[in-house]
Amino acid sequence: MIVIRTDTGITKLKSWEEVESRPNYMSNHTPNDAKLLSISGYYKFEGKPISCSLSSCHTAHGKGYLVRLSDGKEINIGHKCGKDLFEVEFETMTKDFRDFANGEEYKAVILQAKGLTRQWMDALDTMLDAPGGAKWANAHLRTLTTRFANTAVMKSLTDMKRNRSPHIMVNRKLTNKWEIEQRQATNPGMTWEEACWVRESSGTINGLPALYLENDLQELFIKQAKRNIEEIDNFDILKMPLSQLRTMSKQANDIPILLERCEQALQIAIQFLRPANLRGLRRVISKPDENEQFINYLKELESK
Ligand SMILES: [Zn+2]
Repeated sequence: MIVIRTDTGITKLKSWEEVESRPNYMSNHTPNDAKLLSISGYYKFEGKPISCSLSSCHTAHGKGYLVRLSDGKEINIGHKCGKDLFEVEFETMTKDFRDFANGEEYKAVILQAKGLTRQWMDALDTMLDAPGGAKWANAHLRTLTTRFANTAVMKSLTDMKRNRSPHIMVNRKLTNKWEIEQRQATNPGMTWEEACWVRESSGTINGLPALYLENDLQELFIKQAKRNIEEIDNFDILKMPLSQLRTMSKQANDIPILLERCEQALQIAIQFLRPANLRGLRRVISKPDENEQFINYLKELESK
């Protein structure tokens, strides 16, 4: 990687030959009393070190700076040589250069993202508004947790969620006397009545993670994705300090991952909300009115 400062920003060169063809560049130079004028570039190579321009050095470096001198020449030197020769000034100038180059890099990322915000918003709206999409799924998940609060169905789902287990657990009464005695024998202190009941899985639910906090559709689609995209849209790259440019460029780079997360969470919710998937939960219900309410809820899920 070779980054060169230009009048308007930064540019990247593809090969070292392009550096060598710059008009004042010297691959072998004795600066004598020449002063450091400015840093004009930075380079970093995997595996192919570049020899230091100083005639007294010529050490090969994997990374270093291109600097302009008061004698009109441009040379490349490593960090150590630069410090030895130009002292504090070199440190200050290289830090400024790195900040500038990073800032330009961040701005480019943010500008590119600004060109994509419309497309990202459209993709989100499509996922939100489609029949059976995120708005529909979110509303029906909310209905489930509010309308069935304090019912056997929600108690069961809350347990499954807490244990992160897809099994619908039900109690079954044993009728075989020998089986009950065996349970008492292996569990000393257990009463006959207690030994009569076993808790076991009566099936599984797909898409249980739809209930997990990290898959909350409102949070992912609105509070994260939409808000983050709007922030990129409203961000003024010319007015912001380096630290905010850095934060916003990371936010821009992460949008595709966030959209992917939205898509995944929606698919999990759709899988969870299939009536055939939730039907098995009726086995935990003992009250007739709750059963009727739940059947109605499953019917509502049929229409999108
Ligand atoms: Zn050197």
